[in-house]
Amino acid sequence: MNLLDEAWIPVRRENGEQDWITPIQITEPAFVALDACRPDFNGTLIQFLIGLIQTTTPMDSEAEWKQWSEEPPSADELKKWFESVREAFVFDGEGARFMQDFSLRTEGVKEKEFNPISGLLIDAPGENTLKENKDHFVKRDTVNALCCSCAATALFTLQTNAPSGGQGHNTSIRGGGPLTTILIAGDSHSLWQTVWLNIKRRSDFLATNGDASKSALEYSFLWVRAMNALQSEGGKLTPIQVHPAHNFWGMPRRIRLDFKHVSAGNCDCCGRHSDVLVDRYVTKAKGFDYKGGWSHPLSPYYENKPGEMLPLHPQPGGIGYKHWLAWSLGIHGNKKESSACIHSFLCIGRTALERQAMPSIRFWL
Ligand SMILES: [Zn+2]
Repeated sequence: MNLLDEAWIPVRRENGEQDWITPIQITEPAFVALDACRPDFNGTLIQFLIGLIQTTTPMDSEAEWKQWSEEPPSADELKKWFESVREAFVFDGEGARFMQDFSLRTEGVKEKEFNPISGLLIDAPGENTLKENKDHFVKRDTVNALCCSCAATALFTLQTNAPSGGQGHNTSIRGGGPLTTILIAGDSHSLWQTVWLNIKRRSDFLATNGDASKSALEYSFLWVRAMNALQSEGGKLTPIQVHPAHNFWGMPRRIRLDFKHVSAGNCDCCGRHSDVLVDRYVTKAKGFDYKGGWSHPLSPYYENKPGEMLPLHPQPGGIGYKHWLAWSLGIHGNKKESSACIHSFLCIGRTALERQAMPSIRFWL
């Protein structure tokens, strides 16, 4: 299964019906929004699509941005864009797999060392919670098996938002549970327009943190090689060791799904029938340890101390109106910066703004 070929992304059509599409279908105007079984899945699927397009688009001028905003690239065009990264999106092969550790294997692992697939879900009760019988709100045993679509989404959601998972189970590039801000096209617009609003010119994107000269696949998608090729035992990973695109494809956790132990039935998340339901995975501590100077394009940052910008995280008590302006557009005097994608949109999208309704900015927690 290659995530660039498979129809695994749940979307909503203009007429309200649900459908599943491949990434090259996102420019079809009938698809207006993502439609996953969980809100956190929608929040990371949009980041998957933005990451994929930003990583592969040759767009490098305001004129091209406007042209593709109004006349989206064809499926054939998108196929060409994605060609160079295909290898990184294999989900269940024998070797490198999307968002899974290159060296971990499930063969020969003792039964008790496997983790239930529900452990991929961000709100799943942890080991201690289960031991102490404290799973009052999110019950155990409600998710026992996931279809490949939901398993891929759950894995990407965990790697992208990774909260602290106990000793050696690291947090995401933006720390545990970061705030994400996404520009959303108005109601009469398509899913493509929402994705495209968040895309920067290629040269601007390559000038952000990371080393753009590291163009080989393994510097954007770290799972295509063994992790010790890049980070030594007990070491850290800094932006200069990888390509700027890696901001979208962070992989703090070492995980490998068990595709040798699958069954047929209905998925416990989306409810669809599948011949390949995944129910367990293996994991190992001491994955990539992100330190120093990362700057994710979809998150607002604040100045922690002179010269040190940190990603904003939602506060206990939720988001109030007073937070909205600072977190979405930035406040200079308050040492807060909007996400790089919003900043970029306000620079190159201004004339587009005059013609279409102002897009809204949505927070994903
Ligand atoms: Zn499913």
